[in-house]
Amino acid sequence: RPTTVWILGDQLNRSISSLEGADPSSTVVLFVVSRAKLAARPWHRQRLHAILAGMARFAAELRAEGFRVDEREADTFTEGLAAHRASYRPETVRMMAPESFAGEALARRLGVELVASNLFLTTREEFGEWIAQTLERGRRPRMEEFYRWQRRRLGILMDEDGPAGGRWNFDSENRLPPPRAPVAWPTVIVDQLDQLDVRIVASLPDQAVGDPPQGWWPTNRVGALRRLRAFIDEGLSRFGPYEDAMLADEPRLAHSMLSVALNLGLLHPHEVVEAVERAFRDGRVGLSSAEGFLRQVIGWREYVRGFYWWQGPTYRSQNALGAERPLPPALATGRTRMRCVRTTLEGVERHGWVHHIQRLMVLANLGTLTGVQPAAMLDWMWERFVDGAEWVMVPNVIGMGLWADGGVMATKPYVAGGAYLRRMSDYCRSCEYDPRQRTGDRACPFTTLYWWFLDRHRERFAHHPRMAPLLHNLDRLGDLTAIRERARQILELLDAGLA
Ligand code: SF4
Repeated sequence: RPTTVWILGDQLNRSISSLEGADPSSTVVLFVVSRAKLAARPWHRQRLHAILAGMARFAAELRAEGFRVDEREADTFTEGLAAHRASYRPETVRMMAPESFAGEALARRLGVELVASNLFLTTREEFGEWIAQTLERGRRPRMEEFYRWQRRRLGILMDEDGPAGGRWNFDSENRLPPPRAPVAWPTVIVDQLDQLDVRIVASLPDQAVGDPPQGWWPTNRVGALRRLRAFIDEGLSRFGPYEDAMLADEPRLAHSMLSVALNLGLLHPHEVVEAVERAFRDGRVGLSSAEGFLRQVIGWREYVRGFYWWQGPTYRSQNALGAERPLPPALATGRTRMRCVRTTLEGVERHGWVHHIQRLMVLANLGTLTGVQPAAMLDWMWERFVDGAEWVMVPNVIGMGLWADGGVMATKPYVAGGAYLRRMSDYCRSCEYDPRQRTGDRACPFTTLYWWFLDRHRERFAHHPRMAPLLHNLDRLGDLTAIRERARQILELLDAGLA
């Protein structure tokens, strides 16, 4: 009787631990497409397509290698596995551990043998040990410390006597506003869609949202490696300085967009890290860009995944700021007079992707300032992004984006008014609102709501070391009554889809 290796849609890599040592003559590889999962939420079409096309292409590669492959569509995962067991009568069913609480619990219930994931640089145990050591030392876990621990532990960008260039952090050289002079940004690689892609798109459930795929996202290993090479050659050197900049006509700037390939398993973070370090050591990219990018991969990405497992399944229900408003209708319709929000929503609709600052400082900032229910915002973000794995979205939206955990993940809320968006983007130049005005009909919603946010959380932040100084600025404003009135108007307009 054969052994079955069940492969999930985010494990599309020949080196996954569940396939280690698998002999094609005695192993059946199983892929299950669950109709219930596809229809469970209004997922973005490009997200569903990337997963399904990635699974189908990986299945074909394994078949070409000699494996028997059972690609199955069923109402649920449970039914798919039962039908597979009935047909193949496997001795055991093995799976690399899923990256979600629900997935792991289901696999255990179904009697699937789980092996630890090897698609991250840090095992769940290693992250747990780091957390325990940090807490033992009486410190709060922070990404920056985790990142430095990763650099030392993994020997990334390290010289004999410490971090390369003598510094851990190059944020001061990075995060510049958009350049004034035109820049030749790297072009997006576009794959030709074939019959398989067309068939998959036609089969997607009716409630799927967003534009159909245009070939932006890799669905096999060759496509993923091509994008990695292109990013190193054409994007990386400009990534660092402009990683936080936003331009209405340049959704990508120099972002790698490799999160999709990484989160599907098509790339291993190890090979991304190696390619970036090599480019730096060969003198092809500067240290600030290499460091700025690697902190995302070995720092943020690994931290967020460890944090998801550390915090447990109830973390997603946190609501420290007591935020109870429903999602503004603009998120569903895309219609808004706020150019920053409109442009960002267009990117989500067209590609299922916008870069990290649009997610954090436009979408999540709007959610925090208006007081949107964290769970509603989390669901929306999770559904709409091609790279939006659950382990990514729960900490990023609940902890970092909306500060709904009260400071476990981020020391202070990431909130900003129109001044920040004006500095970091070209959105405000042709917006109906004025980022410098906080009252009156043309007042920028971000500017007004920023002060209103501080005003309504005054007590909570009165002794917060980084927020209290902002309250002093608030107290110096002479028009607080008018700000409150304008905030009330803006919320009404937002609820009516008219802001
Ligand atoms: Fe956004 Fe305000 Fe700028 Fe308009 S003025 S683009 S709403 S920040």
